[in-house]
Amino acid sequence: MTINLDDSANQKTISDVMNLKNTVLPDAVLKVENKKISITDSKTESFADFVPLCEAIRGVEGVLMSIQEECPLVCAAKKQFKTFNLSGRIIFIAGPCSVENEKKYLETAVILKKLGVHALRAALFKPRSSPYAFQGLGFDGANILKKAKQETGLLLVTEVTDTRQINELKHITDILQIGARNMRNYDLLKEVGRSKMPVLLKRCAKSDVREFLLSAEYLLKYGTTDLILCERGDNLDSECSINQDIIIAIKRITNLPIFVDPSHSSKNTNKVITAINTAIVLGVNGFLIEADINPTESITDGRHTLNLNDLNKIISSVKINRKI
Ligand code: PEP
Ligand code: MN
Repeated sequence: MTINLDDSANQKTISDVMNLKNTVLPDAVLKVENKKISITDSKTESFADFVPLCEAIRGVEGVLMSIQEECPLVCAAKKQFKTFNLSGRIIFIAGPCSVENEKKYLETAVILKKLGVHALRAALFKPRSSPYAFQGLGFDGANILKKAKQETGLLLVTEVTDTRQINELKHITDILQIGARNMRNYDLLKEVGRSKMPVLLKRCAKSDVREFLLSAEYLLKYGTTDLILCERGDNLDSECSINQDIIIAIKRITNLPIFVDPSHSSKNTNKVITAINTAIVLGVNGFLIEADINPTESITDGRHTLNLNDLNKIISSVKINRKI
């Protein structure tokens, strides 16, 4: 960590920083340079509480922690996801925005299996901007998911919106999705971590890499061992695109798999393919994509939901260039 000093810094500033370090970080090594003090330690968990105390010292301009110091588990993560074999493959998780009725969901699921997707979107709980909008079937849809799994053998990915859902979801789904709106729900992250279930964590619109990776760090600290990060663009309700800088930075910092949601980041089926091609060039591991047998009849997100012919074309074109 680097402590930057301002023009009012004097000998007392340095001795105050040293005293604080000796109390809060007894094993850390402190080095005074020109207008800076650097502190290093093999363990950096206690840095988080040192920073605000240090920044309150007169003469300290600010304190900077590196991403490796803030997110040690994310930065040390291995390049693997045990639930899917990722090696050299592009993974497709596809399905409707939400499970709406049995007939449509099962028909969609069976075709998706034939198209070669690896897992189904299996959303029962929908966090909606309007309290009057369809909120998902909730656990009333559990039986539909059971049938979809029996008929296709595909893995299920289900968004969890509340800690009270976790115990039941353990028996229904394979991977818990944490949606963009809940990336900052730290109690949810802790409980999902404790569940030890595989997780797909979506980046909250407009959050930066640091905040995204700190949320991933919560999951890893509390018990998650199988984690996918998912970029989903910077707007919740209007058209946008995937944030390429975020993907590039994540790939530089961590080995955790990175997926892209080309649907919510495009908000329009015409733009989904562009988002997919961009993401492939950036070296992502897979996609979370909205597709349905009849998008025009979908209660949620029909505008950016692909029909299954279009999804087939996309999967085939990716297949030609890459193993999927
Ligand atoms: C979703 O993938 O079902 C979803 C609601 O997307 P987001 O959390 O990215 O808005
Ligand atoms: Mn949706």
